[in-house]
Order: sequence, then structure tokens, then C-alpha cells
Amino acid sequence: MKDLYRLLPEEMEQLVIDMGYPRYRADQILLPLYYKFPKNLSEIKQLPKKMREELIESGYVIGSAKKIHQIVSEDGDTTKLLLQLTDTSVETVLMQYNPSKIGGHPRSTICVSTQIGCAMGCVFCATGQMGFETNLMAEDIISQVIHFAEILQKRGEHVTNLVFMGMGEPMANYDEMIRAVKILTHDRGFGLGQRHITISTIGIPSGIDKLSEENLQIGLAISLHAPNNELRKKLVPTAGPHSVEDIIDAGKRYFQKTGRRVTFEYALMAGINDSPEIAKELSLLLQGNGSHVNLIPINPTAGDFQRPSPESVSEFERILSNAGVNCTVRMEKGTEISAACGQLRTDVDNLAK
Ligand code: SAH
Ligand code: SF4
Repeated sequence: MKDLYRLLPEEMEQLVIDMGYPRYRADQILLPLYYKFPKNLSEIKQLPKKMREELIESGYVIGSAKKIHQIVSEDGDTTKLLLQLTDTSVETVLMQYNPSKIGGHPRSTICVSTQIGCAMGCVFCATGQMGFETNLMAEDIISQVIHFAEILQKRGEHVTNLVFMGMGEPMANYDEMIRAVKILTHDRGFGLGQRHITISTIGIPSGIDKLSEENLQIGLAISLHAPNNELRKKLVPTAGPHSVEDIIDAGKRYFQKTGRRVTFEYALMAGINDSPEIAKELSLLLQGNGSHVNLIPINPTAGDFQRPSPESVSEFERILSNAGVNCTVRMEKGTEISAACGQLRTDVDNLAK
């Protein structure tokens, strides 16, 4: 089976030309794929019947992932989907920010997964605790977006932002991740603005450098969680060869190359990395490099890490801000349906909770 969602627009053109059809037939496939969300080739009526049959005979299919479960949070702002892939399943999340509650523009952000499980083993992350299962293909990543795009379209809304903050480490599945990004941002593909995409990484300098060479304006978030190597290795056991300094340098290079400001994510864990001393150490490390820190009071997972008190979170934030380090506390979304950061797992039981 070959999924048409896997193909870059240029590749789609090559495919139709190789089949002996004129170039414009490629757009007659691409347009419906990204705006009408057909479930199979027979729904693309613009194509000659013979061409559809030839595509089917050659093994082409559309969006092989099927929706098997959907759950919505009480406030209706967070939706989690479970999608069936060929031999595994994946969770994906839509977070909506309702302007009547927070002001500003309405946002519909999709949080996608790039792997099932993750080999990085972060001790506070449910995905890390399940270990690595498999890499997702580009079409599996795209499929997560398409399912939500279809749901939103029915309500007269659309996808505004995309974050790679679901299961897995995007840099550990670089080629498939970047293929998906290119198709999703291509003006003949899904057409999402590059600036509306953020890749979150645990901090793999070679991957960050590679991304900076792609000539894309996508945002980068680096999950730092600790200001020194000793503490960081306890939280991110596989951090091994990459020191905090190496990671911060890679962030600086990304900024120099792309002009996009880097965000450092910092999951706050009571009694582990939330003391005022650690806040001071972190502010010294990041002072003057123009980056932004996103503090995430830890979301509950199976591990026994506790969220710090609101007072400790405010104190941590205050120390960073006073030192001139730009900083925000991330708004929580979807914890009660286990859809928040670090809570995604693939078992259906967990979904039903
Ligand atoms: N592997 C990538 C992207 C997926 S994780 C990365 O680590 O950046 C997305 C974000 O969720 C990361 O910043 C990660 O540190 C954070 N996270 C993981 N577990 C969490 C938890 N239990 N509570 C809050 N944030 C968590
Ligand atoms: Fe993997 Fe990110 Fe979870 Fe760490 S936090 S285990 S890198 S998904």
C-alpha cells in the first residue's frame, strides 16, 4: 500500500507524468486531498475513472489511518483521537483556545506524535516510560492533522497551529518528520504557514543543526528541564553525550540561521528542579541569549513526580523574569482526559479513563 498523503506535490506530479497523464492531474489529486479529505480514490471525481483504477491497481490508497476513538474534555476545548495505523495506533490531540475566555484570536492547535513510544526515557514522561515501539511514517503524521482538519472544517473552523509535542522525539525520526512538515507547509499541499509550526526536541544538536539548514521558518522548542548536566542526566537518562551547554549552543545557531527565537521548555517538578537556587542557575545560563522559557508544572503520569505549589511556580517565574529572562507558565489543557504533555500513551483503556 502506498499512501498518496506521503507524496510531496513535486512527487505527485512525477507520478502522474510517469503514468502518462498531464501535469495538471497532480493538482486534481492534491486539492481534494488537502481540502475535501476523501476517504478513497473513487471519491476524487475530477480524475478519469481509468486513472483512478490505475492508481488503485498500482497500490495507491488515501489516508490509511482510521479513527477508532474520540474523547472531548468537559470544557470542550481539548479533543483526543485514537487512530489505527497499519499495525499500531496513535493518539493525537486538538487544543482550542476560546477567545471569549482568554481574548485574542481563536486558535486551534494540533499536537502530533512522530513515534510510538520514545527511546529517550525521560523519567517524568509517560511516553518515555513505555519505551520505544516504532517510528511513524510521514503519512501517519499528516493523517493526524487531516483527521482534525476535517472535524474543524465541518464547524467552519480550521487548523491554525501545529506542534510536534505528542509522543516521540521528532529528531529521532528526522526524515519522516521533515517530509511531513514540507507537505503540510507546501502551498500545493496542506498550506499551513511555516511560522505556525513548532518542533519540540529533547535537544539533539545534530538534528537542530540539520533543521536550521532546511530553509524553513518553523519554531523550535528545546526541552531543557535542568540548568546543569548532573540534574539533567537524572531526568533525561539518555542525555549522555549532549551537555546543557552543547544544547544551548545549538539553539543559538538555530536562531542565527533562521531568525526564529528558540523556546526552552522546563517541566517543573516539586523538590527536584524547582528551587530558587536552580531558578537562579537557569537564569544565569540563559541570560542575554534572547530565548524564551516555557515553564510547565508537571502533569500527572504514572511516576511519582509532584507538581510544585502555585507559589513555587510564581517564585521560579519571578526569579527568571527579574534576571531578564523572558518566561511564561504554560496553560494546562486536557489533563483530565490524559491529553496533556507527557501523558500520551497508546492503550485504549487509558483513553476511556
Ligand atoms: N520529545 C520531544 C517532544 C515530545 S514531549 C520533547 O521532549 O521535547 C513534549 C513536551 O512535553 C516536552 O517539553 C516534554 O518535556 C513535556 N513533558 C513530558 N512529560 C511531561 C509531563 N509529565 N508533564 C509536563 N510536561 C511533560
Ligand atoms: Fe521522549 Fe520527549 Fe517524553 Fe523525553 S519528554 S521521553 S524525549 S517524548
